[in-house]
Amino acid sequence: MPDLFIDGTWTSAAAGGRRTITCPADGTHVGEVDESDESDTFRAIEAARRAADDGRWRDVPPQERAAALGRIADALERDTDEIARAEALDTGKRFEEAKIDVADVVSVFRHYAGKGDVVERVREVDPGQPGVVSRVHREPIGVCSLITPWNYPLLQASWKVAPALLAGDTFVLKPSEITPHSTILMVRAVDEAGVPAGVANLVLGTGPGCAGPLSTDPRVDMVSFTGSLAVGQHLMREAAGTVKRVALELGGKNPNIVFADADRKAAVDNAMTAVFLHSGQVCSAGARLLVEGSVKDEVVDTIVERAQHIRLGTPFDENAQTGSLTSAEHLAKVEDYVAEGIAEGATLRCGGARPDDPALADGHYYLPTVLDDCRVDMHVVQEESFGPVLTVETFRTEEEAVALANGTRYGLAGAVWTGNPEKAARVARGLRLGTVWVNDYHPYVAPAEWGGHKQSGIGRELGELGLEEYQETKHVWENTEPAPTGWFS
Ligand code: NAD
Repeated sequence: MPDLFIDGTWTSAAAGGRRTITCPADGTHVGEVDESDESDTFRAIEAARRAADDGRWRDVPPQERAAALGRIADALERDTDEIARAEALDTGKRFEEAKIDVADVVSVFRHYAGKGDVVERVREVDPGQPGVVSRVHREPIGVCSLITPWNYPLLQASWKVAPALLAGDTFVLKPSEITPHSTILMVRAVDEAGVPAGVANLVLGTGPGCAGPLSTDPRVDMVSFTGSLAVGQHLMREAAGTVKRVALELGGKNPNIVFADADRKAAVDNAMTAVFLHSGQVCSAGARLLVEGSVKDEVVDTIVERAQHIRLGTPFDENAQTGSLTSAEHLAKVEDYVAEGIAEGATLRCGGARPDDPALADGHYYLPTVLDDCRVDMHVVQEESFGPVLTVETFRTEEEAVALANGTRYGLAGAVWTGNPEKAARVARGLRLGTVWVNDYHPYVAPAEWGGHKQSGIGRELGELGLEEYQETKHVWENTEPAPTGWFS
């Protein structure tokens, strides 16, 4: 079956492009998929525009659109194992972890499936004069370009596809070229749910190869992008030419602040999952440990000791605790990043190399790494490695902790660990982050907004705002007693 989905038909790339997908965990062949060029993207945009303009989805009652989301959730849940397998093989993450991702994705679709009654709520405002009804409507934006990354391909797509469909938009979705399989299965579920032709469209390929029109074509109304800061900046510039709405979920260099009065057992354990989960390939990874000086040695020594026992392995290795990096290029970048940190004066406490286990030789693995004695002005503290690398900084006071935590251009997420609720509240208020966890790390829920402050992004996903991103506002002023104004008489 062909892999592109354009105007309700599964189709091959017009120019015959194909791409081979290889599992980064062991180099095995995962499959071949169609690879689009811009002509496919233009066809997809044309289909999405037509579907938006004739109202075939916009005019479906919101409760019926919501019901379609429920059917998508059911299909994804039914096919959990197949989808998780596809996600694990493409990304190199553990199958068990990928199953959790699918469950999360199902809950995102179910969350928005429950919002059919509020999605088109109309707000009546006081027009300030009799004989007038003044209403503010929320409507679909139109055609949305949805561009997603490789670390959580399915999850990141669901945060866009579910609200866009509920809002009544049409879209062209482009996942990362190296992890397409789970997204293809998601679009199959959308097709199975009976969403009309042209509403959901899927192209596959590289940014330069096929994505250009997604941010420049005048028929597109909005670009919603999750990925790196550099590509986000590029898309924003491109979208400016036709003044498209832009929503950006970009990188992070997320502080995890541990005070001396924290529950240290919980703080240390969570510091491990904060940074080493999915080998650090998490936008909200707690890759910066900020620890109060008086407990620094105890906290860092424990993390270093435990990090050396993390078991790496392939998606179906039941002993593995985490998987590989996603590509050879990415592994090389992480290696360069660590080398730069050491050159800048960081102390390598563990890791800093590929594993020497011959069983892992065919995958792109990197050992969990701790860089101690870091300063906020170092490149390794300022920029994300997107790998299993923890940098350690020390602070003495609450004010210093907040200032250090805010000392990068990013502002996605972070945590504060303390046994003092007032201190936790003060620090949370001072942090310029889109998400702050207090005595926890990583959880998110579909009803709460997700997104970045500063250069971590623009706009929000999930929650109410994550739906409003896909809507336009229209004020309708209706005079029920029309009369001449007499102005020019
Ligand atoms: P990336 O920016 O390289 O690619 C993301 C997507 O953009 C891919 O689909 C890619 O093909 C596409 N793309 C690349 N160049 C393009 C171009 N010129 N025009 C249009 N599209 C283009 O990011 P990545 O390496 O796939 O993902 C990792 C990054 O994503 C990290 O920086 C991470 O922090 C970020 N991320 C952020 C969040 C969040 O919620 N804020 C979530 C996940 C990942």
